[in-house]
Amino acid sequence: MVFLKSWRRKRRLERVKLDPALWERVVASYEFLSDLSVEERARLHDLAVLFLGEKELHGAQGMRITDEIGVAIAAQACLPILELGLDVYDGFVGVVVYPGQFQVQRTEVDEDGVLHEWGDELSGEAMPGGPVVLSWQDVDMGGAGYNVVIHEFAHKIDMLHGDADGYPAPHSRMDAGRWYEVLEKTYERFRERIDAGEETPFDDYAAEHPAEFFAVMSEEFFTDPILLRDELPDLYGQLALFYRQDPAARIERAAREERGR
Ligand SMILES: [Zn+2]
Repeated sequence: MVFLKSWRRKRRLERVKLDPALWERVVASYEFLSDLSVEERARLHDLAVLFLGEKELHGAQGMRITDEIGVAIAAQACLPILELGLDVYDGFVGVVVYPGQFQVQRTEVDEDGVLHEWGDELSGEAMPGGPVVLSWQDVDMGGAGYNVVIHEFAHKIDMLHGDADGYPAPHSRMDAGRWYEVLEKTYERFRERIDAGEETPFDDYAAEHPAEFFAVMSEEFFTDPILLRDELPDLYGQLALFYRQDPAARIERAAREERGR
């Protein structure tokens, strides 16, 4: 099976290329992608080709999935797994795209056995064992520190070992004790600051649950990494080991190259 999969992937990469102009346009429209090295960009391209071959993108509420939209989602979804590989996303195939925010019905039975029902307005959702759901409007307005694609796919990475709990399993070469300790302590400290009404440069939503903390800080890690490294250096260091990338160093290198030109 593993052999068959790698053979299929190799064949797809030999046969399929994305429209170069479209690819360049997508990469140029996201600052955190345009800083990638030539070699990283080539790898991201190949991952995006495989992603589009193996995942099924569906439009909801009349949304049409254009090549532009498909490539924009694939490129951003593949950034966190640039050094980890596409197998991390093996547990699901569907990506559902709504034109804007979408309603989901929630139900909960409280301790008195009373059923509560309410509607939630979402910009994205990652269903355990199911699809990733995205609001295109929110994908499109992503900026530094806000990226719904990276957020939802970070939940998927977290779900690799079961429910999203904010503590994805570290790689064998990482110090597991240190990884869990830093995630837990940084989350607890962040929640205390939010509870105390303190202003932070990060989205308060990260204080909701360790899983949201991991997803929000993954957004920061990729789209505003220098800020994250300055504010939460221990967490930044652990995420760099986990994702096997150093996006802050990448920006600094790209800036040096820009100056040297
Ligand atoms: Zn979330």
